[in-house]
Amino acid sequence: MSSEIALEIEKIRAQVEAAVAEGATLESLNDCRVAVFGKKGAMTGLQRMLGKLSAAERPEAGKIINAAKTELTAKLDAAIEKCERAALTAAEMRDRIDVTQPASGRPLGGFHPVVQVMMDVLEVLEGLGFVTVQGPEVETDFYNFEALNIPPHHPARDMQDTFYFGDGRLLRTHTSGMQVHSMLEMGAPLRIACPGRVYRRDNDPTHSPMFHQVEGLIVDKDISVGDLKGCLEAMMEGIFGKKLKARYRASYFPFTEPSLEVDIECFKCSGSDPHCQICKGTGWLEIGGMGIVHPNVLRYGGIDPEKYTGFAWGMGLDRIAMLKYGLTDLRALFDGDVSYLLSGRHE
Ligand SMILES: [Zn+2]
Repeated sequence: MSSEIALEIEKIRAQVEAAVAEGATLESLNDCRVAVFGKKGAMTGLQRMLGKLSAAERPEAGKIINAAKTELTAKLDAAIEKCERAALTAAEMRDRIDVTQPASGRPLGGFHPVVQVMMDVLEVLEGLGFVTVQGPEVETDFYNFEALNIPPHHPARDMQDTFYFGDGRLLRTHTSGMQVHSMLEMGAPLRIACPGRVYRRDNDPTHSPMFHQVEGLIVDKDISVGDLKGCLEAMMEGIFGKKLKARYRASYFPFTEPSLEVDIECFKCSGSDPHCQICKGTGWLEIGGMGIVHPNVLRYGGIDPEKYTGFAWGMGLDRIAMLKYGLTDLRALFDGDVSYLLSGRHE
């Protein structure tokens, strides 16, 4: 009987040895454990056989079975533990974060400086109830000049400044053409902002044949220069992120009366630095032109100047973007050199 048990133990040992051999998986090891030590397992069956042995044989056979059980359990457990550790290490290797590695970095993108300034302006104006409108870049003489009270002899009509098409149409020289378009379409009262490209025959470090303006126009009852100033100063605060003093100089534009030019305090030095690169030591920055809409322009727009008044302004967005971001070459704004365009970003 005991030789039968010894033979059975050898079979079980061979089974366990085969299971823990190279290439064992956690699954195959667990299967083996169930097959050997489970309720219906070979080793459990062996223990049951003890009951059939005589009292004399039993102690010796029990000892052999227990020794084999201890030995094989240890072997299987060791193999399972090894397997689990390997699986854990693989997972750790996969998920670990090496804090000594240099960061991979995020690709930086940004809005073009002119677009950024345009968005800043429109955000302020939309908050003040202005509607953004887009106008045609190919314009007629009527909207670009005549309806803006620009008489035929005015220098702005000069062939030197304006790009004309053969049929008399032209590339708009300013966004002001949208004033009369909007008045005719919407009537009074109205508040519009018109950003966009404009074209003039100019090409040097401070002039580009294509540049950007934003036009603002408000037509309502009892509009005054005070409203105009409040509006402009809110815009500047929106662009430069702080309140800036403004000064107004009398000027002349055919489509406004009175006409003003506005300078704002240098946002960099406030006039305290005689070597300031931004304001060239003057403490002031020219921002744009504005004024109370000329009655003739209101009439062209179908609005009664006896009932309504309006104010309008035009600003060069490129110039403001250059000031804000400390860029020096206007033409380079349109060359697509991303490192130059982002060079002035402080964020
Ligand atoms: Zn300055």
